[in-house]
This record gives sequence, C-alpha cells and structure tokens, in this order.
Amino acid sequence: MRYGSTKKILVTGGAGFLGSHLCERLLEQGHEVLCVDNFFTGARRNVAHLLDNSSFELMRHDVTHPLFVEVDEIYNLACPASPVHYQFDPVQTTKTSVHGAINMLGLAKRLKAKVLQASTSEVYGDPEVHPQPEEYWGRVNPVGFRSCYDEGKRCAETLFFDYYRQHKLAVKVVRIFNTYGPRMHPNDGRVVSNLIVQALKGEDITIYGDGSQTRAFCYVDDLIEAMMRMMATGPEVVGPINIGNPGEFSIRQLADLVIELTGTTSKIVSRPLPPDDPRQRRPDITRAKEVLGWEPSVPLREGLTKTVAYFQQLMRE
Ligand code: NAD
Ligand code: UDP
Ligand code: UDP
Repeated sequence: MRYGSTKKILVTGGAGFLGSHLCERLLEQGHEVLCVDNFFTGARRNVAHLLDNSSFELMRHDVTHPLFVEVDEIYNLACPASPVHYQFDPVQTTKTSVHGAINMLGLAKRLKAKVLQASTSEVYGDPEVHPQPEEYWGRVNPVGFRSCYDEGKRCAETLFFDYYRQHKLAVKVVRIFNTYGPRMHPNDGRVVSNLIVQALKGEDITIYGDGSQTRAFCYVDDLIEAMMRMMATGPEVVGPINIGNPGEFSIRQLADLVIELTGTTSKIVSRPLPPDDPRQRRPDITRAKEVLGWEPSVPLREGLTKTVAYFQQLMRE
C-alpha cells in the first residue's frame, strides 16, 4: 500500500532493528529518509544496503542533544529496547526517552511536522488486566531495574500528549508489544534472539523461571505496516494505540518451537526469573483494528523461520 506523496522523513534510531526495516519500507514508497542514530545498539551494517540509495542519508547523532534539520515527518524510535541494553546505562536510557522526546517534539513544533512516538507495552508494567487495552493505566515499579525504560517511556508519552494539547502538535503514539525478526541484535538478551542463537550454536537453551510466563510476538513486517498506517492517519488520531500480535505463547512453547525449527540437539535449562519480569502480556488490538484497519498476518512459525534463516546467515559471515 502507498501512503500519500513523497516526503522527507526523519527516523531516529533508524540503524536499529525496527528502524532499519522502517527506513527500507519508506524508501520503497519513494520517500527521502534521514536516518539518525548514535549506534549504541544499532549498527551501520543494518542499513548498509541502503547507503547507495540517493534518497537515504545516515547521520550519527544523539537525540539527547538538539537537532536542527528540515523534514515533514518524524518517527521517534531512538532508545535501547532490550533489558540488557537499557539497564547498561540506565541514566542515559531515561535521558534518551525524555530529552530525546523533548528535542523531537521541539523540532516537530518548529517544522509543524507530524511526529510519531515508538512507545511500549512496558508502560503497562506487570499488568493486573489481561489483555491490556489502551485505557489501562498500568502497574509500574517507579524505582526498579526496569524503571529507567518504563518510566522514561511513560514520561515521553506525557510529553507527546502535552505538546498535542498545549501546542496543537500532530502527534501519534503507538505502544509496541514484543516484536521480532531479522536484524534483531544477536546479544540483546531478548528471548527470541537468545533462544535462536543458543539453538544454532548447540548451547543450552535458557528459560527464566518455569517458562509459564507468556508473551505475544509480532513479526517485524506487520509492525512496520501498523506504524506507517498510524502516521498516515488524520490529526484526530493521536493514540495511544497498541500494536502487536495477540497470539499468546508461554516461553516454554516458544522454546519448543525454536528447537523444532532449528533441529538443534540443545537442552532446555532453567535460570532465575529476572526482577519485575511481567507474568503475562498480550495486546488488546481492538483499537488498531478499528482505527488503522490493521491486524498482523504473519504467524509465529513463519516469522520464526525467517528469523532463524537470518541468524544462520549472520553466524556464517
Ligand atoms: P534497537 O536497540 O535495535 O534500536 C534502537 C536504536 O536507537 C538503535 O539503533 C540505537 O543505536 C539507537 N539509539 C539509542 N539511543 C540513542 C540516542 N540517544 N540517540 C540516537 N540514537 C539512539 O531496538 P528496536 O527493537 O529497534 O526498538 C526501536 C524502538 O521501538 C525503541 O524506542 C523501543 O523502545 C521501541 N519498542 C521496541 C519493541 C520491540 O519488541 N522491538 C517493543 C516495544 C517498543
Ligand atoms: N529543538 C530542536 N530542534 C528544533 C527545535 C527545537 O532540537 O528544530 C529542541 C530545543 O533545543 C529544545 C527542545 O527542542 O530544547 C524543545 O523545544 P521547544 O521549542 O518546545 O521548547 P523551548 O525551546 O521553548 O524550551
Ligand atoms: N527469557 C527467557 N530466556 C531468555 C531470555 C528471556 O526465558 O534467554 C524470558 C524473560 O524472562 C521474559 C520473556 O522471556 O519472561 C521475554 O523476555 P524479553 O527480554 O525478550 O522481553 P520482555 O520481558 O521485555 O517482554
């Protein structure tokens, strides 16, 4: 599907997992893309195939500092997303979420540009409501190990809504649930990448806790489609809107599927459950269906097969 005429589009965090797929799709649509990244968790490698495209520009920049460029739309994805990475320098994580949001909102205000925030299901914390609708305010520990990310993202949402109310800015907030696919960081500690890499190396497959905790996994192509549909909505659509795949699996089920798809001889081993690890998570995507006419189409087995192929290729390089 094509969304409107050619635009200049800024993607912060564009050299990361989701950002690189977004840059690719926007270029396919004929847009000019400015990819801004400080390469904390992203890599030039993720966008190397785009560097020859004259509509693509890669800029090293940290969004905690002001940015003066001229664009029509902004997708704000800059932020480490996996617990291992966002807990590495938690103060910087909060700065990236909060100062990064302020700078991108200031930029959007000056340019009268649309700005979309990549928020997260972590704003619901360890939820008492299941599945989580957008009206649910969440149950978040403000002083725990996940707080730098969870509260940073919550504060960013607050800023987006205040710029909307106070400055009449065209903002869009999507709450992304667990997403996986090619170009995930192999060492980011997230369950999909961990399990696949362990299986391919023949190492023990680590399940934290008893593996009965659940997550709902969305394939990256589906997610990017939803983000672009959200950006294409009129000014009346602000969000927040959950985007993710409502198919819920226990971590144990995921491990069994990875073992089947890789044909590994690896054994499952148990490791302690990290603090504040949510028991259950699944998006209620009623609003996304109604407002965006969107729902995910890639089943877990198909998406995992493509992801396994990516990691196999990566490990051969
Ligand atoms: P990622 O780590 O691959 O990408 C984040 C990118 O942001 C990286 O390229 C990193 O180098 C860059 N970055 C980090 N701090 C920066 C800074 N201060 N200035 C400039 N660039 C910076 O992670 P991802 O999975 O692609 O996540 C992208 C966005 O989507 C994040 O905002 C994340 O919170 C959100 N999100 C992702 C998921 C998921 O399951 N992948 C779920 C919920 C929300
Ligand atoms: N900003 C930016 N690029 C711009 C305009 C603003 O990075 O093109 C930053 C600016 O440095 C400021 C932030 O965005 O820190 C918020 O800008 P806003 O105009 O909302 O607030 P103010 O400058 O009045 O504090
Ligand atoms: N997990 C696991 N083994 C791993 C990595 C993660 O069992 O090697 C678990 C983790 O404890 C959590 C779930 O898988 O319950 C999803 O973890 P991830 O870090 O991918 O995402 P998040 O907790 O942010 O949803």
